[in-house]
Amino acid sequence: MAFFSDLGEHVAVLRGLLGADIAADALPGIMAALDDDAIVEIISGASNLIRAAEKVRIVASGVAAARSTREHGHGGLAQKRGHNSLAALIQDLTGATRADAVKHVRLGESLLAGMGAALDDGAGESTDAAPAGSLDAEVAAEPWHAPLGRALLAGTISSAQHDVILRGLGEPPTVDDPDASRHIADVWSLAAEQLAAEAGERTVEELAKAARTVRDRLDPEGAGRRFDERFERRSFRLGTDSDGIRRASIAFDDVGGAWMDAILDSALRPRRGGPRFIDPAEKERAEQLVADPRTNEQLAYDLVLDVLRAGALAEEKTVFGTRQAGIRVLITADDREAHADGRPAIGLLEESQTSVPASLAAQHACDTGGVECTIDRDGNPLRLGREHRLYTAKQRLTLALRDGGCRWRGCDRPPSYCEAHHIDHFVADHGRTDVDRGILLCRYHHMQLHHGGWRITRDGLGDFVLHPPPGRGDPLTLAPRLTLRYAWAGIDPPPRRFLPAA
Ligand SMILES: [Zn+2]
Ligand SMILES: [Zn+2]
Repeated sequence: MAFFSDLGEHVAVLRGLLGADIAADALPGIMAALDDDAIVEIISGASNLIRAAEKVRIVASGVAAARSTREHGHGGLAQKRGHNSLAALIQDLTGATRADAVKHVRLGESLLAGMGAALDDGAGESTDAAPAGSLDAEVAAEPWHAPLGRALLAGTISSAQHDVILRGLGEPPTVDDPDASRHIADVWSLAAEQLAAEAGERTVEELAKAARTVRDRLDPEGAGRRFDERFERRSFRLGTDSDGIRRASIAFDDVGGAWMDAILDSALRPRRGGPRFIDPAEKERAEQLVADPRTNEQLAYDLVLDVLRAGALAEEKTVFGTRQAGIRVLITADDREAHADGRPAIGLLEESQTSVPASLAAQHACDTGGVECTIDRDGNPLRLGREHRLYTAKQRLTLALRDGGCRWRGCDRPPSYCEAHHIDHFVADHGRTDVDRGILLCRYHHMQLHHGGWRITRDGLGDFVLHPPPGRGDPLTLAPRLTLRYAWAGIDPPPRRFLPAA
Protein backbone atom coordinates (compact mmCIF):
# COMPACT_ATOMS: atom_id res chain seq x y z
CA MET A 1 0.00 0.00 0.00
CA ALA A 2 1.21 3.47 -0.76
CA PHE A 3 2.81 5.09 2.24
CA PHE A 4 0.48 8.04 2.69
CA SER A 5 -2.73 6.15 2.09
CA ASP A 6 -1.48 3.70 4.73
CA LEU A 7 -0.92 6.58 7.10
CA GLY A 8 -4.29 8.06 6.17
CA GLU A 9 -5.98 4.81 7.07
CA HIS A 10 -4.49 4.80 10.58
CA VAL A 11 -5.70 8.38 11.03
CA ALA A 12 -9.15 7.44 9.75
CA VAL A 13 -9.45 4.64 12.32
CA LEU A 14 -8.69 7.05 15.14
CA ARG A 15 -10.96 9.73 13.73
CA GLY A 16 -13.78 7.19 13.54
CA LEU A 17 -13.36 6.31 17.21
CA LEU A 18 -12.77 9.79 18.58
CA GLY A 19 -14.78 12.02 16.27
CA ALA A 20 -13.54 14.53 13.71
CA ASP A 21 -11.58 17.61 14.72
CA ILE A 22 -11.85 17.35 18.44
CA ALA A 23 -9.71 19.57 20.65
CA ALA A 24 -6.68 17.86 22.22
CA ASP A 25 -7.77 18.77 25.73
CA ALA A 26 -11.11 17.03 25.11
CA LEU A 27 -9.35 13.64 24.61
CA PRO A 28 -9.42 12.45 28.25
CA GLY A 29 -13.12 13.18 28.56
CA ILE A 30 -14.02 11.49 25.26
CA MET A 31 -11.97 8.37 25.97
CA ALA A 32 -13.22 7.99 29.53
CA ALA A 33 -16.66 7.44 28.04
CA LEU A 34 -15.57 4.74 25.55
CA ASP A 35 -15.84 0.98 26.11
CA ASP A 36 -12.86 -1.39 26.53
CA ASP A 37 -12.76 -2.53 22.90
CA ALA A 38 -12.62 1.02 21.63
CA ILE A 39 -9.75 1.86 24.00
CA VAL A 40 -7.76 -1.18 22.81
CA GLU A 41 -8.42 -0.16 19.20
CA ILE A 42 -7.20 3.35 19.93
CA ILE A 43 -3.99 2.08 21.49
CA SER A 44 -3.37 -0.17 18.51
CA GLY A 45 -4.31 2.54 15.97
CA ALA A 46 -2.09 5.12 17.63
CA SER A 47 0.77 2.61 17.70
CA ASN A 48 0.38 2.02 13.96
CA LEU A 49 0.54 5.74 13.39
CA ILE A 50 3.63 6.08 15.57
CA ARG A 51 5.34 3.20 13.77
CA ALA A 52 4.60 4.70 10.37
CA ALA A 53 5.89 8.12 11.41
CA GLU A 54 8.92 6.54 13.04
CA LYS A 55 9.83 4.86 9.76
CA VAL A 56 9.95 8.25 8.11
CA ARG A 57 12.10 9.64 10.88
CA ILE A 58 14.51 6.67 10.73
CA VAL A 59 15.02 6.99 6.99
CA ALA A 60 15.56 10.73 7.37
CA SER A 61 18.04 10.04 10.17
CA GLY A 62 19.94 7.68 7.90
CA VAL A 63 20.19 10.31 5.18
CA ALA A 64 21.19 12.92 7.77
CA ALA A 65 23.83 10.54 9.15
CA ALA A 66 25.42 10.18 5.71
CA ARG A 67 25.59 13.97 5.52
CA SER A 68 27.00 14.42 9.04
CA THR A 69 30.02 12.12 9.01
CA ARG A 70 33.35 13.26 10.40
CA GLU A 71 34.65 13.84 6.88
CA HIS A 72 32.12 16.62 6.42
CA GLY A 73 33.76 18.60 9.21
CA HIS A 74 31.95 21.83 10.01
CA GLY A 75 30.03 21.55 6.75
CA GLY A 76 28.04 18.51 7.92
CA LEU A 77 24.26 18.61 8.27
CA ALA A 78 24.32 18.32 12.09
CA GLN A 79 27.49 20.37 12.47
CA LYS A 80 26.12 23.33 10.53
CA ARG A 81 23.26 23.39 13.01
CA GLY A 82 25.63 23.63 15.94
CA HIS A 83 25.78 19.99 17.03
CA ASN A 84 28.93 17.91 17.15
CA SER A 85 27.04 14.76 16.19
CA LEU A 86 23.81 13.79 14.52
CA ALA A 87 22.62 12.06 17.69
CA ALA A 88 22.90 15.39 19.52
CA LEU A 89 20.81 17.10 16.83
CA ILE A 90 18.18 14.35 16.94
CA GLN A 91 18.05 14.52 20.70
CA ASP A 92 17.51 18.25 20.43
CA LEU A 93 14.76 17.89 17.82
CA THR A 94 12.89 15.02 19.47
CA GLY A 95 13.44 15.41 23.21
CA ALA A 96 14.41 11.75 23.27
CA THR A 97 17.04 10.23 25.54
CA ARG A 98 20.61 10.06 24.28
CA ALA A 99 20.31 6.27 23.95
CA ASP A 100 17.19 6.59 21.80
CA ALA A 101 18.80 9.21 19.59
CA VAL A 102 21.84 6.99 19.07
CA LYS A 103 19.53 4.08 18.26
CA HIS A 104 17.79 6.19 15.64
CA VAL A 105 21.05 7.02 13.92
CA ARG A 106 22.15 3.38 14.05
CA LEU A 107 18.88 2.17 12.51
CA GLY A 108 18.90 4.90 9.89
CA GLU A 109 22.42 4.02 8.82
CA SER A 110 21.61 0.33 8.69
CA LEU A 111 18.45 0.95 6.71
CA LEU A 112 20.11 3.13 4.11
CA ALA A 113 23.07 0.82 3.71
CA GLY A 114 20.64 -2.06 3.32
CA MET A 115 18.63 -0.32 0.65
CA GLY A 116 21.81 0.42 -1.30
CA ALA A 117 20.63 3.99 -1.48
CA ALA A 118 22.92 6.37 -3.27
CA LEU A 119 24.32 8.25 -0.35
CA ASP A 120 25.16 11.36 -2.25
CA ASP A 121 25.87 14.35 -0.14
CA GLY A 122 22.75 16.36 -0.71
CA ALA A 123 22.34 18.57 -3.71
CA GLY A 124 24.39 21.71 -3.50
CA GLU A 125 25.23 21.40 0.20
CA SER A 126 28.60 19.89 -0.31
CA THR A 127 30.99 19.17 -3.11
CA ASP A 128 32.79 15.99 -2.07
CA ALA A 129 30.35 13.52 -3.59
CA ALA A 130 31.76 10.04 -4.26
CA PRO A 131 33.18 9.78 -7.79
CA ALA A 132 30.87 7.97 -10.15
CA GLY A 133 31.62 4.28 -10.64
CA SER A 134 33.52 3.90 -7.38
CA LEU A 135 31.02 1.32 -6.18
CA ASP A 136 31.89 -1.85 -8.00
CA ALA A 137 29.56 -4.82 -7.82
CA GLU A 138 31.44 -6.31 -4.87
CA VAL A 139 31.09 -3.29 -2.60
CA ALA A 140 27.51 -2.65 -3.64
CA ALA A 141 26.48 -6.17 -2.57
CA GLU A 142 23.66 -5.97 -0.07
CA PRO A 143 24.81 -5.88 3.58
CA TRP A 144 23.71 -8.78 5.77
CA HIS A 145 21.17 -6.69 7.69
CA ALA A 146 19.22 -5.63 4.58
CA PRO A 147 16.30 -8.02 5.39
CA LEU A 148 15.77 -6.11 8.65
CA GLY A 149 15.46 -2.80 6.82
CA ARG A 150 12.96 -4.30 4.39
CA ALA A 151 10.92 -5.78 7.25
CA LEU A 152 10.91 -2.43 9.04
CA LEU A 153 9.72 -0.59 5.95
CA ALA A 154 7.10 -3.25 5.32
CA GLY A 155 5.91 -2.76 8.88
CA THR A 156 6.42 -6.40 9.94
CA ILE A 157 8.95 -5.49 12.65
CA SER A 158 9.10 -2.50 14.95
CA SER A 159 12.15 -0.28 15.25
CA ALA A 160 12.84 -1.77 18.69
CA GLN A 161 12.81 -5.28 17.19
CA HIS A 162 15.00 -4.13 14.31
CA ASP A 163 17.49 -2.71 16.76
CA VAL A 164 17.79 -5.75 19.05
CA ILE A 165 18.23 -8.13 16.11
CA LEU A 166 20.81 -5.84 14.52
CA ARG A 167 22.78 -5.51 17.73
CA GLY A 168 22.21 -9.08 18.93
CA LEU A 169 23.58 -10.61 15.74
CA GLY A 170 26.36 -8.01 15.68
CA GLU A 171 28.88 -7.61 12.90
CA PRO A 172 29.91 -10.95 11.39
CA PRO A 173 33.54 -11.96 11.91
CA THR A 174 35.89 -10.61 9.25
CA VAL A 175 37.93 -13.02 7.15
CA ASP A 176 40.37 -12.38 4.31
CA ASP A 177 38.99 -14.88 1.82
CA PRO A 178 36.28 -13.05 -0.20
CA ASP A 179 34.32 -16.27 -0.83
CA ALA A 180 34.25 -17.14 2.85
CA SER A 181 33.36 -13.57 3.66
CA ARG A 182 30.40 -13.62 1.28
CA HIS A 183 29.28 -16.93 2.73
CA ILE A 184 29.39 -15.55 6.27
CA ALA A 185 27.37 -12.50 5.23
CA ASP A 186 24.80 -14.83 3.65
CA VAL A 187 24.47 -16.84 6.84
CA TRP A 188 24.06 -13.67 8.93
CA SER A 189 21.52 -12.38 6.46
CA LEU A 190 19.54 -15.61 6.68
CA ALA A 191 19.61 -15.44 10.48
CA ALA A 192 18.35 -11.84 10.35
CA GLU A 193 15.53 -12.89 8.03
CA GLN A 194 14.50 -15.79 10.26
CA LEU A 195 14.54 -13.69 13.41
CA ALA A 196 12.53 -10.97 11.68
CA ALA A 197 9.98 -13.61 10.68
CA GLU A 198 9.64 -14.62 14.36
CA ALA A 199 9.12 -11.02 15.47
CA GLY A 200 5.32 -11.16 15.20
CA GLU A 201 5.00 -13.58 18.09
CA ARG A 202 8.01 -12.71 20.23
CA THR A 203 8.75 -10.00 22.74
CA VAL A 204 11.63 -7.63 22.10
CA GLU A 205 13.51 -9.17 25.02
CA GLU A 206 13.15 -12.67 23.67
CA LEU A 207 14.30 -11.60 20.21
CA ALA A 208 17.34 -9.89 21.73
CA LYS A 209 18.31 -13.01 23.62
CA ALA A 210 17.67 -15.26 20.61
CA ALA A 211 19.75 -13.01 18.35
CA ARG A 212 22.70 -13.19 20.74
CA THR A 213 22.38 -16.95 21.01
CA VAL A 214 22.20 -17.36 17.22
CA ARG A 215 25.30 -15.22 16.84
CA ASP A 216 27.21 -17.28 19.41
CA ARG A 217 26.11 -20.46 17.66
CA LEU A 218 27.28 -19.14 14.27
CA ASP A 219 30.51 -17.82 15.71
CA PRO A 220 31.51 -19.96 18.69
CA GLU A 221 35.05 -18.63 18.53
CA GLY A 222 33.72 -15.11 18.97
CA ALA A 223 31.48 -16.38 21.77
CA GLY A 224 34.57 -17.61 23.58
CA ARG A 225 36.28 -14.28 23.04
CA ARG A 226 33.31 -12.29 24.35
CA PHE A 227 33.08 -14.59 27.37
CA ASP A 228 36.79 -13.94 28.03
CA GLU A 229 36.34 -10.20 27.72
CA ARG A 230 33.53 -10.22 30.25
CA PHE A 231 35.61 -12.42 32.53
CA GLU A 232 38.54 -10.00 32.28
CA ARG A 233 36.28 -7.14 33.30
CA ARG A 234 35.13 -8.84 36.51
CA SER A 235 35.68 -6.61 39.48
CA PHE A 236 34.68 -5.92 43.04
CA ARG A 237 35.22 -2.48 44.52
CA LEU A 238 34.42 -1.37 48.02
CA GLY A 239 34.28 2.26 49.03
CA THR A 240 32.71 4.67 51.52
CA ASP A 241 30.32 7.38 50.40
CA SER A 242 29.99 10.86 51.90
CA ASP A 243 27.42 9.60 54.44
CA GLY A 244 29.86 7.02 55.69
CA ILE A 245 27.96 4.11 54.12
CA ARG A 246 30.10 1.30 52.77
CA ARG A 247 29.23 0.74 49.12
CA ALA A 248 30.27 -1.98 46.72
CA SER A 249 30.33 -2.03 42.98
CA ILE A 250 30.58 -5.41 41.33
CA ALA A 251 31.00 -6.35 37.68
CA PHE A 252 30.18 -10.03 37.28
CA ASP A 253 31.54 -12.42 34.70
CA ASP A 254 28.93 -14.74 33.13
CA VAL A 255 29.30 -17.57 35.58
CA GLY A 256 29.57 -15.36 38.65
CA GLY A 257 26.48 -13.50 37.51
CA ALA A 258 24.58 -16.74 37.01
CA TRP A 259 25.58 -17.85 40.51
CA MET A 260 24.38 -14.60 41.99
CA ASP A 261 21.07 -14.92 40.13
CA ALA A 262 20.68 -18.48 41.33
CA ILE A 263 21.42 -17.60 44.94
CA LEU A 264 19.03 -14.64 45.05
CA ASP A 265 16.38 -16.45 43.07
CA SER A 266 16.24 -19.55 45.20
CA ALA A 267 15.76 -17.49 48.33
CA LEU A 268 13.45 -14.77 47.01
CA ARG A 269 11.38 -16.92 44.65
CA PRO A 270 8.07 -16.60 46.55
CA ARG A 271 8.44 -12.81 46.38
CA ARG A 272 9.01 -12.94 42.67
CA GLY A 273 5.93 -14.99 41.87
CA GLY A 274 7.72 -18.31 41.73
CA PRO A 275 5.98 -21.70 41.72
CA ARG A 276 3.25 -22.42 44.26
CA PHE A 277 4.36 -24.75 47.00
CA ILE A 278 2.40 -27.88 47.84
CA ASP A 279 4.38 -29.09 50.84
CA PRO A 280 2.77 -27.34 53.87
CA ALA A 281 6.14 -26.55 55.46
CA GLU A 282 7.42 -25.01 52.25
CA LYS A 283 4.17 -23.17 51.80
CA GLU A 284 4.44 -21.70 55.26
CA ARG A 285 8.01 -20.63 54.67
CA ALA A 286 6.96 -18.97 51.41
CA GLU A 287 4.13 -17.14 53.15
CA GLN A 288 6.47 -15.93 55.86
CA LEU A 289 8.83 -14.59 53.26
CA VAL A 290 6.06 -12.75 51.44
CA ALA A 291 4.92 -11.24 54.76
CA ASP A 292 8.47 -10.29 55.79
CA PRO A 293 8.55 -6.52 56.32
CA ARG A 294 11.98 -6.18 54.69
CA THR A 295 12.21 -4.84 51.15
CA ASN A 296 13.53 -7.12 48.41
CA GLU A 297 16.77 -5.14 48.46
CA GLN A 298 17.15 -5.61 52.19
CA LEU A 299 16.38 -9.32 51.94
CA ALA A 300 18.89 -9.72 49.14
CA TYR A 301 21.50 -7.88 51.16
CA ASP A 302 20.90 -9.99 54.28
CA LEU A 303 21.06 -13.12 52.19
CA VAL A 304 24.34 -12.20 50.51
CA LEU A 305 25.86 -11.42 53.89
CA ASP A 306 24.56 -14.71 55.34
CA VAL A 307 26.13 -16.58 52.47
CA LEU A 308 29.41 -14.78 52.91
CA ARG A 309 29.40 -15.44 56.63
CA ALA A 310 28.42 -19.05 56.37
CA GLY A 311 30.82 -19.59 53.50
CA ALA A 312 31.52 -23.03 52.27
CA LEU A 313 30.45 -24.72 55.49
CA ALA A 314 26.82 -23.60 55.42
CA GLU A 315 24.06 -26.12 55.41
CA GLU A 316 22.30 -25.08 52.24
CA LYS A 317 18.87 -25.51 53.71
CA THR A 318 19.36 -22.92 56.41
CA VAL A 319 20.47 -20.32 53.92
CA PHE A 320 18.56 -21.04 50.75
CA GLY A 321 15.27 -22.43 51.95
CA THR A 322 14.09 -25.35 49.90
CA ARG A 323 16.00 -25.26 46.67
CA GLN A 324 19.75 -25.26 46.72
CA ALA A 325 21.26 -22.57 44.56
CA GLY A 326 23.33 -23.70 41.64
CA ILE A 327 23.73 -23.39 37.93
CA ARG A 328 23.18 -25.93 35.21
CA VAL A 329 24.84 -25.87 31.82
CA LEU A 330 23.32 -27.46 28.71
CA ILE A 331 25.50 -28.75 25.91
CA THR A 332 24.66 -30.83 22.84
CA ALA A 333 26.60 -33.97 22.04
CA ASP A 334 27.83 -32.29 18.82
CA ASP A 335 29.21 -29.34 20.72
CA ARG A 336 30.76 -31.62 23.30
CA GLU A 337 32.55 -33.58 20.60
CA ALA A 338 33.65 -30.42 18.82
CA HIS A 339 35.09 -29.17 22.07
CA ALA A 340 36.88 -32.47 22.73
CA ASP A 341 38.44 -32.15 19.26
CA GLY A 342 39.63 -28.66 20.05
CA ARG A 343 37.13 -26.91 17.78
CA PRO A 344 35.12 -23.91 19.03
CA ALA A 345 31.77 -24.85 20.57
CA ILE A 346 29.24 -23.42 22.97
CA GLY A 347 26.78 -24.46 25.66
CA LEU A 348 23.86 -22.68 27.32
CA LEU A 349 23.15 -21.66 30.90
CA GLU A 350 19.89 -23.40 31.70
CA GLU A 351 18.16 -20.58 33.59
CA SER A 352 18.97 -17.57 31.44
CA GLN A 353 19.73 -19.41 28.20
CA THR A 354 22.78 -17.27 27.58
CA SER A 355 25.53 -19.00 25.69
CA VAL A 356 28.81 -19.88 27.33
CA PRO A 357 31.93 -21.55 25.92
CA ALA A 358 31.82 -25.36 25.83
CA SER A 359 34.85 -25.34 28.11
CA LEU A 360 32.60 -24.07 30.89
CA ALA A 361 30.25 -27.01 30.37
CA ALA A 362 33.27 -29.31 30.62
CA GLN A 363 34.49 -27.59 33.76
CA HIS A 364 31.04 -27.74 35.28
CA ALA A 365 30.58 -31.42 34.41
CA CYS A 366 33.87 -32.17 36.19
CA ASP A 367 32.66 -30.66 39.38
CA THR A 368 28.99 -31.54 39.51
CA GLY A 369 28.62 -34.45 37.12
CA GLY A 370 25.99 -34.47 34.45
CA VAL A 371 23.09 -36.28 32.95
CA GLU A 372 22.54 -37.18 29.32
CA CYS A 373 19.20 -36.68 27.68
CA THR A 374 18.20 -37.71 24.18
CA ILE A 375 16.03 -35.08 22.53
CA ASP A 376 14.38 -34.96 19.11
CA ARG A 377 14.68 -31.97 16.79
CA ASP A 378 11.54 -30.38 18.24
CA GLY A 379 12.98 -30.52 21.73
CA ASN A 380 10.91 -33.43 23.00
CA PRO A 381 12.91 -35.45 25.52
CA LEU A 382 13.04 -39.10 24.43
CA ARG A 383 15.23 -40.73 26.99
CA LEU A 384 16.98 -39.68 30.15
CA GLY A 385 20.37 -41.26 30.67
CA ARG A 386 21.86 -41.98 34.05
CA GLU A 387 23.77 -39.39 36.00
CA HIS A 388 27.45 -39.85 35.74
CA ARG A 389 30.82 -38.86 36.98
CA LEU A 390 30.22 -36.99 40.14
CA TYR A 391 32.78 -37.38 42.89
CA THR A 392 31.06 -38.35 46.11
CA ALA A 393 31.60 -36.45 49.35
CA LYS A 394 33.83 -39.30 50.55
CA GLN A 395 35.92 -39.23 47.41
CA ARG A 396 36.35 -35.49 47.82
CA LEU A 397 37.61 -36.03 51.35
CA THR A 398 40.17 -38.41 49.95
CA LEU A 399 41.18 -35.88 47.32
CA ALA A 400 41.50 -33.21 50.01
CA LEU A 401 43.72 -35.51 52.07
CA ARG A 402 45.94 -36.27 49.12
CA ASP A 403 46.10 -32.81 47.48
CA GLY A 404 45.68 -30.43 50.40
CA GLY A 405 44.15 -27.83 48.08
CA CYS A 406 44.59 -26.53 44.54
CA ARG A 407 47.41 -28.47 42.91
CA TRP A 408 48.20 -25.77 40.33
CA ARG A 409 51.82 -24.72 40.57
CA GLY A 410 52.12 -21.85 43.07
CA CYS A 411 48.47 -21.77 44.18
CA ASP A 412 47.58 -21.89 47.87
CA ARG A 413 43.77 -22.19 47.83
CA PRO A 414 42.55 -24.70 50.46
CA PRO A 415 40.36 -27.75 49.65
CA SER A 416 37.11 -26.02 50.61
CA TYR A 417 37.64 -23.58 47.71
CA CYS A 418 38.43 -26.30 45.20
CA GLU A 419 36.58 -28.20 42.52
CA ALA A 420 37.44 -31.77 41.58
CA HIS A 421 38.83 -31.91 38.06
CA HIS A 422 38.51 -35.18 36.21
CA ILE A 423 41.65 -35.61 34.13
CA ASP A 424 40.09 -37.92 31.54
CA HIS A 425 38.48 -36.06 28.72
CA PHE A 426 34.90 -34.98 28.98
CA VAL A 427 33.56 -37.39 26.35
CA ALA A 428 30.81 -39.91 26.02
CA ASP A 429 32.69 -42.78 27.70
CA HIS A 430 32.55 -40.70 30.91
CA GLY A 431 35.94 -41.92 32.15
CA ARG A 432 36.19 -43.61 35.51
CA THR A 433 34.91 -41.72 38.54
CA ASP A 434 37.99 -42.73 40.33
CA VAL A 435 39.96 -40.79 42.92
CA ASP A 436 43.14 -41.67 41.04
CA ARG A 437 41.83 -39.78 38.00
CA GLY A 438 40.75 -36.68 39.94
CA ILE A 439 42.68 -33.68 41.18
CA LEU A 440 41.68 -30.61 43.18
CA LEU A 441 41.87 -27.21 41.48
CA CYS A 442 40.54 -23.89 42.72
CA ARG A 443 37.72 -22.35 40.67
CA TYR A 444 40.08 -19.96 38.95
CA HIS A 445 42.64 -22.56 37.93
CA HIS A 446 39.98 -25.08 37.00
CA MET A 447 38.52 -22.52 34.63
CA GLN A 448 41.96 -21.59 33.33
CA LEU A 449 42.64 -25.25 32.61
CA HIS A 450 39.44 -25.96 30.69
CA HIS A 451 39.16 -22.60 29.04
CA GLY A 452 42.80 -21.97 28.24
CA GLY A 453 43.47 -25.34 26.60
CA TRP A 454 45.64 -26.78 29.40
CA ARG A 455 45.63 -30.49 30.20
CA ILE A 456 46.55 -32.68 33.14
CA THR A 457 47.69 -36.25 32.58
CA ARG A 458 48.76 -39.05 34.86
CA ASP A 459 50.36 -42.35 34.10
CA GLY A 460 48.93 -44.92 36.52
CA LEU A 461 49.76 -43.74 40.04
CA GLY A 462 52.63 -41.57 38.83
CA ASP A 463 52.89 -37.80 39.03
CA PHE A 464 50.16 -35.50 37.78
CA VAL A 465 51.62 -33.59 34.84
CA LEU A 466 50.30 -30.22 33.70
CA HIS A 467 50.62 -29.58 29.95
CA PRO A 468 50.41 -25.93 28.85
CA PRO A 469 48.74 -25.09 25.54
CA PRO A 470 51.06 -25.56 22.52
CA GLY A 471 53.92 -23.07 22.49
CA ARG A 472 53.43 -22.02 26.11
CA GLY A 473 56.32 -23.93 27.67
CA ASP A 474 57.18 -27.39 28.95
CA PRO A 475 54.96 -29.71 30.98
CA LEU A 476 55.18 -29.25 34.73
CA THR A 477 54.95 -31.87 37.43
CA LEU A 478 52.29 -30.96 40.00
CA ALA A 479 53.54 -31.72 43.46
CA PRO A 480 51.15 -32.21 46.40
CA ARG A 481 51.41 -29.81 49.33
CA LEU A 482 54.83 -30.07 50.90
CA THR A 483 53.43 -30.19 54.41
CA LEU A 484 51.31 -33.19 53.48
CA ARG A 485 54.26 -34.99 52.00
CA TYR A 486 56.07 -34.59 55.29
CA ALA A 487 52.96 -35.58 57.22
CA TRP A 488 52.59 -38.87 55.35
CA ALA A 489 56.15 -39.82 54.64
CA GLY A 490 58.22 -38.00 57.23
CA ILE A 491 61.65 -36.84 56.16
CA ASP A 492 63.67 -39.33 54.30
CA PRO A 493 66.40 -39.73 55.21
CA PRO A 494 65.93 -38.00 58.60
CA PRO A 495 68.47 -35.20 58.96
CA ARG A 496 70.98 -35.58 61.72
CA ARG A 497 69.39 -33.27 64.29
CA PHE A 498 66.06 -35.21 64.18
CA LEU A 499 67.76 -38.41 65.12
CA PRO A 500 67.13 -39.53 68.67
CA ALA A 501 69.97 -38.67 70.93
CA ALA A 502 72.30 -41.59 71.19
ZN1 LIG B 1 37.81 -30.19 35.07
ZN1 LIG C 1 44.47 -22.60 42.14
